[in-house]
Amino acid sequence: MDEFGQLCFEISNCKNCDLSYSRRRSVCGYGDQGASIMVIGEAPGTKEDTVGLPFVGRSGALLDRVLLQCGISRNDLYITNSVRCKPPIGKTPRSEHIRACSSYLARELNLVKPVVVVPMGNTAIAALSLVLKFRTGKVTEMNGKILKRGKLLIVPQFHPAAILRNPKREELFMENFEKIAFIGREIKSNGIDKVLTSSNLELVNL
Ligand code: SF4
Repeated sequence: MDEFGQLCFEISNCKNCDLSYSRRRSVCGYGDQGASIMVIGEAPGTKEDTVGLPFVGRSGALLDRVLLQCGISRNDLYITNSVRCKPPIGKTPRSEHIRACSSYLARELNLVKPVVVVPMGNTAIAALSLVLKFRTGKVTEMNGKILKRGKLLIVPQFHPAAILRNPKREELFMENFEKIAFIGREIKSNGIDKVLTSSNLELVNL
């Protein structure tokens, strides 16, 4: 079993928090294991809990449509969640759930080694800040900023579920993914060092 297989095996059998009681199945990260872009959501929903894959419900359909319009294929990304088990209906993960699940996110970051990380929503921002040890903030303050931590770029976004609730935010959501697509192309053509010193991007040091 490779390291991703081992990680997924542990997640599938994990009982480190009480979300293990509300899940049907745990949901492991999915996608290109060597992707330069990693997207982090909140938690599995009902469909994900049934299928066992991240972002396969309505939020996933919105994400796919926006990615496609920005020229990003889901196959080029690694997509994961802040917590791997579905919370009870109508509940968001609590800080103890995020903490209990954070070692899995840390291991995914180490394995995939992305150059751009896109935490979508407050839960994902909190989970990432816990792993990378930066001061967390609300998505309303951080949305669309390009934060720089060493050679890692972090682009906080609204969660697609928040776009479904408030479609007026979709334009900004799309603009952020256009920015991410641009960064992805620049990394492919010129390398990360060039991107980190580019004057076309307003990078904010974390
Ligand atoms: S949410 Fe994470 S820590 Fe909690 S039981 Fe599921 S896999 Fe384990």
